[in-house]
Amino acid sequence: PQQADSDLRRVIDDVVAFLGPECRRRGIEPSVVCEGAARVRVALDSDRLFQVVFNLCLNAVEAQSRGGELEVRILPECDGPAGSSVVCFEVADAGPGIPGEDLRRIFDPFFTTKAAGGGSGLGLAIVRGIVEEAGGSVEATASSTGGACFRVTLPAIVSGS
Ligand code: ADP
Ligand code: MG
Repeated sequence: PQQADSDLRRVIDDVVAFLGPECRRRGIEPSVVCEGAARVRVALDSDRLFQVVFNLCLNAVEAQSRGGELEVRILPECDGPAGSSVVCFEVADAGPGIPGEDLRRIFDPFFTTKAAGGGSGLGLAIVRGIVEEAGGSVEATASSTGGACFRVTLPAIVSGS
């Protein structure tokens, strides 16, 4: 099995590169912002971390068809519960955002607002399952860019440990 130790920036860059052609097709400008240390390690294997970042970025892309933004921000490392260290990152877009009445249901399996055949409604359920199994959390917030913003918190691996 893969080690539960991934370089967050590398996985984010992989996802953004993978979605590059689709971003260009839709006129979406992707950006990755790292406010903390250059190398941030999280306690999750890179396949599962890729699935988390990919599902959130794919939703951001699918929410915007003619121009827009995909911004992935790594926030500075911060203190988690009981002296642990956690890493937060956000995936924000400039799409229509999420209506308040949907916010309670978006993480439910099979909840989708996409046209028939357009979405399985499983992406966010998978994101939440992986993140919570790793001891982290995920929440939807409003974005400063006007659209949706998802914030993920995961246990960090502190350098030297
Ligand atoms: P799917 O993408 O297959 O619909 P998800 O579980 O990934 O399933 O997302 C569930 C629903 O949450 C979407 O159908 C959409 O209504 C809403 N949603 C998720 N991300 C965004 C976003 N970035 N902007 C707007 N709505 C979103
Ligand atoms: Mg999805």
